[in-house]
Amino acid sequence: MKPRNLLVIFGDQLSMDMASLKAADPAQDHVLMVEVAAEAETVNHHKQKLVFFFAAMRHFRDELRAAGWSVDYVTLDAPENTGTFEGEIARAVERLSPDRLVFTAPSEWRVERMVGTLENALDIPVKTLEDTRFLCGRNEFAAWAEGRRGLRMEYFYREMRRKTGLLMNDDKPEGGRWNFDAENRKPAGTDLFMPRPPRIKPDQTTADVITMVGETFDTHCGKLKGFGYAVTRADAEKCLDYFISHALPLFGDYQDAMLTGEPYLYHSVLSPYINVGLLDPLDVCRRAEEAYKKGRAPLNAVEGFIRQIIGWREYVRGIYWLKMPDYVDANHLEAKRPLPDFYWTAETEMACLKAAIGQTMELAYAHHIQRLMITGNFALLAGINPKEVHEWYLGVYVDALEWVELPNTLGMSQFADGGLLGSKPYAASANYINKMSDYCSGCRFRADRKVGEDACPFNALYWHFLDRNRDRIGSNARLRNTYSTWDRMHADTRADYLAAAERFLASL
Ligand SMILES: Cc1cc2nc3c(=O)[nH]c(=O)nc-3n(C[C@H](O)[C@H](O)[C@H](O)COP(=O)(O)OP(=O)(O)OC[C@H]3O[C@@H](n4cnc5c(N)ncnc54)[C@H](O)[C@@H]3O)c2cc1C
Repeated sequence: MKPRNLLVIFGDQLSMDMASLKAADPAQDHVLMVEVAAEAETVNHHKQKLVFFFAAMRHFRDELRAAGWSVDYVTLDAPENTGTFEGEIARAVERLSPDRLVFTAPSEWRVERMVGTLENALDIPVKTLEDTRFLCGRNEFAAWAEGRRGLRMEYFYREMRRKTGLLMNDDKPEGGRWNFDAENRKPAGTDLFMPRPPRIKPDQTTADVITMVGETFDTHCGKLKGFGYAVTRADAEKCLDYFISHALPLFGDYQDAMLTGEPYLYHSVLSPYINVGLLDPLDVCRRAEEAYKKGRAPLNAVEGFIRQIIGWREYVRGIYWLKMPDYVDANHLEAKRPLPDFYWTAETEMACLKAAIGQTMELAYAHHIQRLMITGNFALLAGINPKEVHEWYLGVYVDALEWVELPNTLGMSQFADGGLLGSKPYAASANYINKMSDYCSGCRFRADRKVGEDACPFNALYWHFLDRNRDRIGSNARLRNTYSTWDRMHADTRADYLAAAERFLASL
């Protein structure tokens, strides 16, 4: 039967609540889902990330069919697959002759631009509906940002608290404060019980995808063996249940901590599921709030967790759509150095980088502080080209979609947008890493040595970064004390730092 509407569902739209599905009728409309090589090759995507997306898509196809939808699904290895969205949508229009194409707004600029070409190219009406999984619509964010001098997340977050009523008593924040971050900076001890998020055993559908990815994307980064992510709603719910009961209570306390051999600590590892639609962000927050109300998790943990989702996650999406397409080329600090090879191999003597990159290649996961204060901090201090840094983060993490990864990388981590997203660069010397982790105790370099053979390179790099960027960030009020410390140092000490950093950078 010729469908009335052909609904195109992308790989990060795996929810029955997608606006296009909700507005449609399975008796008259038809779904199209396609696996395309062009998307898998945009950057060097980790093998487990490719498995995650393709396996979750195939399971969602089955869920749709079980719910009565007709689904045309094109696998990557189908001989007729053209390898691009445009090609596959054109073939489907030819095959099915629908009256109209219907989309839920794509999450990424590149895909939205592609959708914008279809009406003319295929001579068919195209309708695009807003993605209602986000709390703050794109226009709503633009209206919030309009005329503001600074776009600070904290103020946006308060609006989202009011809008959702999460942790609110009428118009007052629960506990009398909006933000409990000051209580969330404890370093973890090795004696703590560490929860481990459930690893899900692959079923036959996932096993087939693992084989396909192993054969087709052999040269891509990361380990394929040991894939254990949830790829269905039911399994993602199990991961959420586990997090709420086992990790959430200490999420706040140890949010910034890092420990050797503990890749997750008390983090939720829910970002991949939220980002592709297996979990709804607001539901996740309501579950956390419920744990607080029942006395099963403290306020500092629950507020901190909810802030990440209705605050940071929504805010970075707003920034992405406000600033694209130019944002991707931002390079305020004019950083030009190529990404060192050890970002792919983890072959470095620096224990913190080895740990963060090693687990990234093993699991396609690192938690926020590892991303920001280890790999991100190093790239910032060493002056690595932010576009190369962006492409690395976009490739290696299972949760990486450009709309969320790009503002985090370019804005928060690399200060490439000149302070639009963060009020100062997240730059730190070995002291911070030593305080928040146990990496330094097993490292060949010493955190307390400033220069010399065994001094941690983060120390000299930190001062080199500040010195060489003084024209660009020297007037930042939040760096005034740091620059005064630098200026008060003996000239020989400063020269030693700069020379040590130069030697290290030349060796990269
Ligand atoms: C350089 C860099 C790159 C990043 N790239 C990505 C990315 O590609 N995809 C991605 O989802 N997150 C990204 N983040 C944000 C954050 O690091 C991850 O969301 C988080 O580590 C995911 O692990 P988790 O689910 O255990 O998070 P938790 O620590 O348990 O946090 C709970 C949830 O809050 C949300 N969240 C937390 N921090 C952020 C943030 N800064 N921005 C947006 N959402 C946030 C996520 O949905 C996460 O699942 C990046 C951060 C940095 C510094």
